[in-house]
Amino acid sequence: MSLDVAAIREQFPILKREIDGNPLIYLDNAATTQKPQCVIDALVDYYTQCNSNVHRGAHRLADEATRKFENARDIIKDFINAPKREEVIWTSGTTEGINMIANGLAKLLKSSDEVIVTGMEHHANIVTWQQACKAAGASLHTVPVTDKGELDLDVYVSLLNENTKLVAFPHVSNSLGTVNPIKWMTEQAKKFGAWVSVDGAQGVAHGNVDVQDIGCDFYAFSGHKIYGPMGIGALWGKEELLAEWPIWQTGGEMISTVTLQDATWNVLPYRLEAGTPNVGDAIALGEAIRWFSELDYAEVAAHEKALMARATELAKEFDGLRMIGEAEEKVGAFSFVLDQGHPADIGFLLDRQGIAIRTGDHCAQPLMARFGVPGTARMSFSIYNTIEEVEQFFKALKKVHMMLA
Ligand code: PLP
Repeated sequence: MSLDVAAIREQFPILKREIDGNPLIYLDNAATTQKPQCVIDALVDYYTQCNSNVHRGAHRLADEATRKFENARDIIKDFINAPKREEVIWTSGTTEGINMIANGLAKLLKSSDEVIVTGMEHHANIVTWQQACKAAGASLHTVPVTDKGELDLDVYVSLLNENTKLVAFPHVSNSLGTVNPIKWMTEQAKKFGAWVSVDGAQGVAHGNVDVQDIGCDFYAFSGHKIYGPMGIGALWGKEELLAEWPIWQTGGEMISTVTLQDATWNVLPYRLEAGTPNVGDAIALGEAIRWFSELDYAEVAAHEKALMARATELAKEFDGLRMIGEAEEKVGAFSFVLDQGHPADIGFLLDRQGIAIRTGDHCAQPLMARFGVPGTARMSFSIYNTIEEVEQFFKALKKVHMMLA
């Protein structure tokens, strides 16, 4: 069976939009995915039926909101195969999840410790660790990226040693679409007892994330990249680490007892969730993941592969187009530059034809420098994109290329 893309598209009201009389072709999914009607309904339902603060209210609405909120946590736990619900921490997104870990790490690092990141990071997964290392006087090392846009795994292995405290890498590169061998990379890091933190922002929407199988210590993702709302995400971490991790923010909910002199901390997950949580968006993210989990992941993968294969085929036939990133394992994001015109011009002229892509450095300036480009034009696919849209994209790009010549 193949993915019923037409039926999926029906569930996304925004896909019916037109832009200047052209049907919208939305190819900016690595930036954010669109939302199915059930996610929009979950938000409306929360705000019209049970809007209330969670955990402490002695009334019906608070009780309903708390049950839905905690049920969403269970949905995420099952989705990523986390051993325990207490290990799922609500965050505002990947950035906050990584900051939570990096902030604590800064207090745990010694000056002799080393942290490893890669050359294909989103800024959220490099600046955070840079700051932690700077604060502790520890050193930061980088795994280089090959011409194909893959990690140089020989160098990675050579960088690991007894001083390596933490290794951070992306599941999938947001700029190049490269899928990294995260399970193998985790195994290598574990030989030296290092902690492993995976940036799952681009990996999570492709199904089959199993944190136990990966063997990592932390996995962070954003809800808006997996059909959920913005401003909500989750950090998963091993219980034994999160239970002792230096606390991040202080305030309500994360405390157990407070005197005017001191305070003690709540148990997980609450010790890392200070203040009123983003209840409505958490519930809607639970709904997004429930909805996504009902799809057949093999069909999802086959469809995404077909989109990438067709794009690659057409790109290779396109005179004047340079693909940035040609990894063997690639999903979602497809970056390129043209011999004529700045990526920003390409994006602007495609928009005039109803096509939404992203242009620029994709929050990955070191990677752009590695490929000697100021930025790229990036189309990024989701399950609701069609082969026809990919073909339409390349027809529109031909016109753009002629205009820019
Ligand atoms: N990491 C990667 C690989 C990303 O693609 C993104 C967002 O594009 C982030 C981190 C940051 O995600 P957010 O802005 O949702 O926190």
